[in-house]
Amino acid sequence: MRTTVAIPGAGPAGVAAAVHVSDRNIEPLILEQGSQVAIAVREWGHVPMFSNRRFNFDAIAARRLERAGWQRPDPNTHPTGADLINGYRDPLGGSLAALLRLGQRVAAVSRDGIGKVRDAGRGAAPFVIDTVGPNGPETFRADAVIDATGTWDQRNPGGAGRPVPGEEGHPMVSHGMPDIRGDDRARLKGRRVGVLGGGHSAIGNLIALAALPGTRPIRLCRAQSAARALGGGAADQLSARGALGVEIEGTGPVCAGATEGQCAEMDALIFSTGFRPDLSILGELCLSLDPALECSPALAPLIDPNLHSCGTVRPHGAAELSHPEPGFHTAGMKSCGRAPTFLLATGHEQVRSTMAASGCCCGQALDRVVACCIADEAAKDCGRAGCDCAASQPEQKAAACC
Ligand SMILES: Cc1cc2nc3c(=O)[nH]c(=O)nc-3n(C[C@H](O)[C@H](O)[C@H](O)COP(=O)(O)OP(=O)(O)OC[C@H]3O[C@@H](n4cnc5c(N)ncnc54)[C@H](O)[C@@H]3O)c2cc1C
Repeated sequence: MRTTVAIPGAGPAGVAAAVHVSDRNIEPLILEQGSQVAIAVREWGHVPMFSNRRFNFDAIAARRLERAGWQRPDPNTHPTGADLINGYRDPLGGSLAALLRLGQRVAAVSRDGIGKVRDAGRGAAPFVIDTVGPNGPETFRADAVIDATGTWDQRNPGGAGRPVPGEEGHPMVSHGMPDIRGDDRARLKGRRVGVLGGGHSAIGNLIALAALPGTRPIRLCRAQSAARALGGGAADQLSARGALGVEIEGTGPVCAGATEGQCAEMDALIFSTGFRPDLSILGELCLSLDPALECSPALAPLIDPNLHSCGTVRPHGAAELSHPEPGFHTAGMKSCGRAPTFLLATGHEQVRSTMAASGCCCGQALDRVVACCIADEAAKDCGRAGCDCAASQPEQKAAACC
């Protein structure tokens, strides 16, 4: 019987995971709530990315596209979110079209016939994935799950953990990175706009607002001191992001220790206060979570925003991402919980490592960047395509190695 891996979420991480899964001749079942792949990135398509294309492509996915005639764009250029979709994610999504189930919102993941408190036989029971889609509720089964549903739909409110009064549904309050140079220009131009947040989205917003004629951007900080640098400046490992940190100086006044009353004095507010994961769909699975960051406990110290920016997060994978639930993995933005330190490059390493650790046949390769297992590495070393991990007969697998 063929193994199926369900992948809720067809954002950058989910699509990369699907490529890695299908590359091993395992069937990915990609369940995406939107009508297209990477629907969240489309919403911030106007934003220039701070990581260049070299960091935005997954190696295995890029190789798959090149086999189909794709021309790799200059790796040293910085795309916008829209460029990333047009030049890379859409062709990749197209190559997976037959495996994509669009418009399917995953409502719950559980184990077939095994409640959360039962241990016996847990790992052997298939996962059951309940969705709501164009044909109403549907149920899918899979042997493993890689949750790549991101955090885009769960924006943090403007208050510390709670909305500020009047925030919800207010026409002059936006979250994340509105299209200040485009669709939102008329709404914000000439206004006094408060921007709350300590990350790169806030910086990008302040810079864009400062360029709008007559607009007064005000940097709101909850802390009493705004001394904590935004962006790594000249020392930042991603130069475009460091440049943002430098450019912000001189964009406008800073209001430290901002209160709800000061928020109310603004004509418009932008809350660039990050995201949180939706854990409700995973309520029937055995997860282990860091109490603050809501990511796996082993990952927390590596991505803690009190200690790290995304440039200082070291590559991590299956070991740090694991949960007590056998066969369940997270990848992408959601794996980092509430930490804002996720990069696409991190996500690519996550899916590569998760698949390598799942062990397609005979153990982990030594050169884990190019090979999925020892046999794959040996086969590639002697000029063959790879281990052919789909081969069901041991002799076929052995023939793949020299
Ligand atoms: C404005 C902005 C700029 C960024 N710039 C960079 C950058 O320059 N470089 C960089 O490396 N990273 C950047 N990031 C961070 C990160 O790389 C992106 O957020 C990236 O989109 C995360 O990919 P993902 O696949 O984990 O999640 P997402 O892109 O959020 O994709 C998740 C997918 O899951 C789907 N989904 C959600 N819930 C369900 C459900 N219940 N059922 C089915 N489907 C569901 C969504 O519709 C979506 O398609 C940026 C992020 C933002 C917000």
